[in-house]
Amino acid sequence: MTFAKLGLIEPLLRALQHLDYNTPTPVQAQAIPAVLAGRDLMAAAQTGTGKTAGFALPVLQRLAMEGAKVASNSIRALVLVPTRELAEQVHANIREYAEHLPVSTYAVYGGVSINPQMMRLRRGVDLLVATPGRLLDLFRQNALKFNQVQVLVLDEADRMLDLGFAEELRAVYAALPTKRQTLLFSATFSDEIRMLAGLALDNPVSIEVSPRNVTASTVKQWLVPVDKKRKADLFCHLLRKQRWKQVLVFAKTRNGVDQLVERLREEGVNADGIHGDRPQATRQRALDTFKAREVQVLVATDVAARGLDIDDLPLVVNLDLPIVAEDYVHRIGRTGRAGNKGEAISLICADEVQQLSAIETLIRQTLPRHEEPDYIPEHRVPLTDANGQVVKKPKKPKKPKESGGKRGLGRWMDSAEPTLSEPQVKAVRKVPSFNGGPKKRKP
Ligand code: AMP
Repeated sequence: MTFAKLGLIEPLLRALQHLDYNTPTPVQAQAIPAVLAGRDLMAAAQTGTGKTAGFALPVLQRLAMEGAKVASNSIRALVLVPTRELAEQVHANIREYAEHLPVSTYAVYGGVSINPQMMRLRRGVDLLVATPGRLLDLFRQNALKFNQVQVLVLDEADRMLDLGFAEELRAVYAALPTKRQTLLFSATFSDEIRMLAGLALDNPVSIEVSPRNVTASTVKQWLVPVDKKRKADLFCHLLRKQRWKQVLVFAKTRNGVDQLVERLREEGVNADGIHGDRPQATRQRALDTFKAREVQVLVATDVAARGLDIDDLPLVVNLDLPIVAEDYVHRIGRTGRAGNKGEAISLICADEVQQLSAIETLIRQTLPRHEEPDYIPEHRVPLTDANGQVVKKPKKPKKPKESGGKRGLGRWMDSAEPTLSEPQVKAVRKVPSFNGGPKKRKP
């Protein structure tokens, strides 16, 4: 399969050649012809599957070949994303794809001054990437009109709902022309997402790509049980012992991010953190320096790390397990990309056993555990299995043995380790069927 066979025009093919995209990913192979044919789309695909190009390439082609010139303060295609970082990321990709096309693109998001955005929109923009809140601000201040919108893309729709954007999405729908093409991308399909799809989509083509094909099949996943209060110590110990070169660390709270960054810096490690309390410019700088490998450890909350796309990231560490099981899949999707090998290590404490159980159920596997000799927890982490069961009651706290736990981390590097070879994320993906035929959109 080639991009040319999917019906893409020469200026796009040239851009793809320059980017070294030789073969379409599964989501691209399915989405591109459907979008070019004008169909609505409902796609179960997450970051790392190539979904951005899957919608951006055919949308750009349609914008280049169809429709009137964009008017002042107007847009012709709208890509809604949950976070600022994702807006930047998606727009950066789209700009590269559009390099040889007469199609203008721009991104707007909150946390930065609105005035330059208003100024830029005066000239009109063919394709706008936006976060929902800032988009509505601009709309309500008459800096944006929606009457020329031909295409709406909802990217990471599940995440937008998780972040509480349901109201904003409803308001955007109400303001958009009813005659339009709508493409919805989501990693998971909850009842809420199905409802959103029912409202927004008209007889959509359903696409499902399993993330294991493209992201996590090369990710080795491990757990290290540890007491909660010793997680930061264990992380610092492993960083030194395993000589980790570049690590993305996920922490549950903003406080957790700040504390680990501070601790690492005290130990002379070049570390930085991103979370929602930090100004956008600082977050972007932290991302950029991490991508440039000037920063060794980047600590992030889930929200701040959305949209992070780093080539060849070798390791993701979960300092805390995520509250929402699907976020585990998102997190480890940051490593093992494009066929590279990756590792995802979670430091788990007894309090997190329910979250662990939910994750193992979602990915349908029991994650292997490795105890680190000097960090064996006093509060044992109950065993779990992939059926959502906690299979053993917590044992009474035991004093750690003096030395040489029999599964020390030293053996991680040992090729004779009886590992679960190539553990794979098998996230459960349920794509609803649309038997009811075309649904009426609300005006
Ligand atoms: P996405 O899932 O859209 O976040 O894309 C994940 C990564 O895959 C990005 O770095 C893209 O540049 C890259 N990518 C997307 N499609 C292809 C392709 N067909 N060939 C090679 N790399 C790709």
